[in-house]
Amino acid sequence: MRLTRYFLPVLKENPAEAQIVSHRYMLRAGMIKQQAAGIYSWLPLGLRVLRRIEQIVNEEQERAGHIPLLMPTLQSADLWRESGRYDDYGEEMLRIKDRGGRELLYGPTNEEMITDIFRAHVTSYKSLPLTLYHIQWKFRDEMRPRFGVMRGREFLMKDGYNFDIDQDAALHAYNRHMVSYLRTYERMGLTAIPMRAASGPIGGDNTHEFLVLAQTGESEVFYDDRVTALKLGSRAIDYGNRAQVAEVCREFTTLYARTDETHDAAVFDTVPEAHRKVGRGIEVGQIFYFGTMYSAAMGALVVNDKGEKVPVEMGSHGIGVSRLLGAIIEASHDDKGIIWPEGVTPFPVGIVNLKQGDVAADAACEGLYKALSLCGLEALYDDRDERAGAKFATMDLIGLPWRITVGPRGLANGVVEVTSRRTGVSEEMTPEAAVARVAAIYQAN
Ligand code: ATP
Ligand code: MG
Repeated sequence: MRLTRYFLPVLKENPAEAQIVSHRYMLRAGMIKQQAAGIYSWLPLGLRVLRRIEQIVNEEQERAGHIPLLMPTLQSADLWRESGRYDDYGEEMLRIKDRGGRELLYGPTNEEMITDIFRAHVTSYKSLPLTLYHIQWKFRDEMRPRFGVMRGREFLMKDGYNFDIDQDAALHAYNRHMVSYLRTYERMGLTAIPMRAASGPIGGDNTHEFLVLAQTGESEVFYDDRVTALKLGSRAIDYGNRAQVAEVCREFTTLYARTDETHDAAVFDTVPEAHRKVGRGIEVGQIFYFGTMYSAAMGALVVNDKGEKVPVEMGSHGIGVSRLLGAIIEASHDDKGIIWPEGVTPFPVGIVNLKQGDVAADAACEGLYKALSLCGLEALYDDRDERAGAKFATMDLIGLPWRITVGPRGLANGVVEVTSRRTGVSEEMTPEAAVARVAAIYQAN
């Protein structure tokens, strides 16, 4: 993408309404525009990151054997009357009437609708296990929308629902979700710690929230800091192997890690003092096992292997897709701007031409652009007729992890400069070596 042809409306000034760094940088980098309280347009740069995050979520869900579908944003109130939640949900639910006076709502979540789909089509244990998920916009009329996409009213969520014949199978589904979520966050360059949670209006006994540590987080968290060193890495996971998946969950949930909702001071005191930490965290996901709560209320029954009709065992599992952009920026930035992890960056690499219009510099940039493209890497080429300082400031603000800088002086010696956004370290090398270097980094990712 050539910057002169792109739509990147960066702001020079800090927007007054933004209280936290992720909100500030998303506005300044031209990623989002507020349209109403807690409702945003996704401008091209923001949309590219959102799509990357969705893609990682999809890949890890499908790897775990979970199946995508797409349910609508609008739902019928009658469906929610069946579970009893239409009245319980309260003011967070946006209620709408159509021209015929029929009551609709903008879905804040989809337990009722997925249970309705299930009961219409599945009648036997032979069709189980089954986990269906979608990535869809939600609306919750939050009392205090704030911090940009972190607490929006309209926001993008991945929500998945498992259907199983018995508790053991449902707990395996719960564990599969935990492991697939750990992988998802790791690929985004995040450490998200599963913490035992209290169940909210959705109910259920077995539930964990995933928290990214950040001072601007809304939850208070108490943890043994050794939990932050745990990594899945590249280990092979067989999602069909119940014992293996359960063992990974045990590994990640044994050390103390809880939010203020479930914190137990007496247990926390048994953590060695040097490891006992209190901080703040951003909730980027939550998994729930709730058994037959919805299936019993809504008549989602299956015949088991003894020929009995039983309510299907269920759980629901959510990832805050749009909130993740904010969480990633909170976890990865400096005073110049965003530092995208390679896994989610909007463009893998930026090209800065220090002297636009110089025949050699222009040709070298075009050559780099094409060579990167042949490696499957779409560079963002700053081909504006601007001062070097302004080009560097834009690149630093939008946070591409790698930058290739091209100028007449370097080219006279046959070299360009490759710079890491994270470390700031620059290295001179030939244009061919620069392409190979960047390509190798993304191959490893
Ligand atoms: P919170 O406690 O932050 O209000 P929640 O527990 O009500 O969230 P869930 O129902 O667990 O939310 O939804 C799954 C995920 O969706 C959350 O873990 C969070 O990452 C994201 N999410 C929830 N509410 C919002 C919101 N208003 N804006 C952006 N993301 C949200
Ligand atoms: Mg939650």
